[in-house]
Amino acid sequence: MSIKENLLKITTSLPPHVTLIAVTKTQPIEKLMVIYQAGHKIFGENKVQELVDKYEQLPKDIEWHLIGHLQTNKVKFIAPFVTLIHSVDSLKLLEEIDKQAEKNNRVINCLLQIYIADEDTKFGLSYAEAEELMHSKALSGLKNIKITGLMGMATNTGQKEQIANEFRSLKQFYDKTRSISAFNFELNNLSMGMSSDYTLAIENGSTMVRVGSSIFGERS
Ligand SMILES: *Cc1c(COP(=O)(O)O)cnc(C)c1O
Repeated sequence: MSIKENLLKITTSLPPHVTLIAVTKTQPIEKLMVIYQAGHKIFGENKVQELVDKYEQLPKDIEWHLIGHLQTNKVKFIAPFVTLIHSVDSLKLLEEIDKQAEKNNRVINCLLQIYIADEDTKFGLSYAEAEELMHSKALSGLKNIKITGLMGMATNTGQKEQIANEFRSLKQFYDKTRSISAFNFELNNLSMGMSSDYTLAIENGSTMVRVGSSIFGERS
């Protein structure tokens, strides 16, 4: 199937409360333009340099999401335009995002990335660390960020039950912490699910799926 057909197949199958982030990492501009012209305008990249390069080359009505690990010294490059950062995993990073957002007269929406996989290759906060951050005095002083949800990546395994359990536990944590509310904290997004597991993620409460290879084919 073509990229456009893949995109349509996915978008028509998603429940209305689920947002598709088309993961465009490693894909050339021409392929991004194919889905743009088909009407899709929410793109996710995992590296700052590639995100900035593509932002500069593409139409300005695209929403850019950073989905990969972010180093504090690179926040300044994306602060002028990024729509949502899915991968916030420390207070230090959040403070830098706040500082750079203020310089750009913006509020930057962020998700806290929670470590749910049974692997040690993935970034993220433990549930305990996330709760500590959510209740910290330091967070309550940040005026140019808003925490709008949580993100998690399941273990890369064929064991569906394990993946479902990981998503379910993050959904429970999301439901519990949604009761916290502050001017800069209001959880409405649960970003979980990629090509291999987005249907399971949706069954378990996802509201944002990050899908690359099911749209563009395997990355080379
Ligand atoms: C690459 C990536 C995805 C998409 O992966 P696919 O398997 O191609 O759908 C989703 N989330 C993150 C954080 C990624 O880096």
